[in-house]
Amino acid sequence: MDNFIYHNPTKLIFGKGQLDTLPNEVEQYGKKVLIVYGGGSIKRNGIYDNVLAKLAEINAEVFELAGVEPNPRISTVRKGVQICKEEGIDFILAIGGGSTIDCTKAIAVGAKTDVDMWDVVTKKEQAQGALPFGTVLTLAATGSEMNAGSVITNWETNEKYGWGSPFSYPKFSILDPTHTFSVPRDQTIYGIVDMMSHVFEHYFHQTPNTPVQDRFCESVLKTVMETAPKLLNDLENYEYRETIMLSGTLALNNMLNMGYRGDWASHNLEHAVSAVHDIPHGGGLAILFPNWMKHVMDDENVGRFKQMAVRVFDVNPEGKTDKEVALEGIAALRAFWTEIGAPSKLADYDIDESSVEVMAEKTVTARPEYGNFKVLTKQDSLEIFKASL
Ligand code: NAP
Ligand code: FE
Repeated sequence: MDNFIYHNPTKLIFGKGQLDTLPNEVEQYGKKVLIVYGGGSIKRNGIYDNVLAKLAEINAEVFELAGVEPNPRISTVRKGVQICKEEGIDFILAIGGGSTIDCTKAIAVGAKTDVDMWDVVTKKEQAQGALPFGTVLTLAATGSEMNAGSVITNWETNEKYGWGSPFSYPKFSILDPTHTFSVPRDQTIYGIVDMMSHVFEHYFHQTPNTPVQDRFCESVLKTVMETAPKLLNDLENYEYRETIMLSGTLALNNMLNMGYRGDWASHNLEHAVSAVHDIPHGGGLAILFPNWMKHVMDDENVGRFKQMAVRVFDVNPEGKTDKEVALEGIAALRAFWTEIGAPSKLADYDIDESSVEVMAEKTVTARPEYGNFKVLTKQDSLEIFKASL
């Protein structure tokens, strides 16, 4: 493995009733609190009222930014930055899923700089600092609650990019599995696909000697696959929600990838699709990831795919070539995602050949080549998108 420093400053507060810790956690940062949330699910399931009651205990002065879009937009980030600057906000609280949290990260950094946040997202400018922020997670998927990453879309230019900074870790994240009881079936499925995809992005790397990390990754994948079908039959089961919620956090809080760098090409491909078509992130990944696997597998790297097939999908390797075993593993992944109800082709979102070229171009606007396990170019993007139609 490579040398590494692991430092994750986010305090993880996990379990039923943990919203009770909110007043204490917020109070140390000040009284003027901006709450950021999405399209209203938190009003329907009662989380909004509960959070306001907790903030009232410390006499917080509460400001609101509602309406963060799934695939959060830079225009909404700018609104949040303006509120922070005009009102002198002390602390931001994100209440929602990855979109709300990612938007909050950009607002927090934007509040501490005079440059436009799109220039930070596109890496033309550096983050200078951030307002402190915390999260109340309501959807298990992205891991954004315990990492420094954020994905922002510019709907004027149809671009969607990930960015991050040392300042964009939440101070704390409150994860109460009961807060995810109301997540509808489709969003639950997308979350499961996203967290599994994060583990796959880690798993496909070229660094030698990562046996502990491999087994960690495999155990998260196996646990999610074991739990997902049970959860989808029983959406308000506390133990299944709890298992999936912790899995989502572990999949992308950078514990699994200590000492090596994963691939991330499939996320780049998905961001290009949802920059143009505004589809759910997990839905896009379910379509693209198995096709990325088939596209990049070759004689040199087939061992990694074989290991996944045998250890994660229980493929019996006897009497088969490495390639046959590997392909069986990829087919098993596709079958699993289809079985739980995830989409498998771009046509499921009415995306046809006419947008392949523009999406492929988006995969290389930030840089001409991408992917670490295998370096890809626009030509590869075209082929993967065509195989995904
Ligand atoms: P999301 O976009 O935050 O939320 C999806 C939908 O679920 C929204 O309509 C939301 O409704 C609803 N929802 C959330 N919690 C709910 C609940 N408890 N009950 C009912 N409905 C609920 O979904 P996400 O998958 O967490 O985030 C996706 C975004 O994160 C994408 O932009 C993706 O690119 C990005 N991402 C970030 C990272 C990272 O590390 N930062 C990693 C992967 C992906 P409301 O809006 O009404 O609340
Ligand atoms: Fe993701």
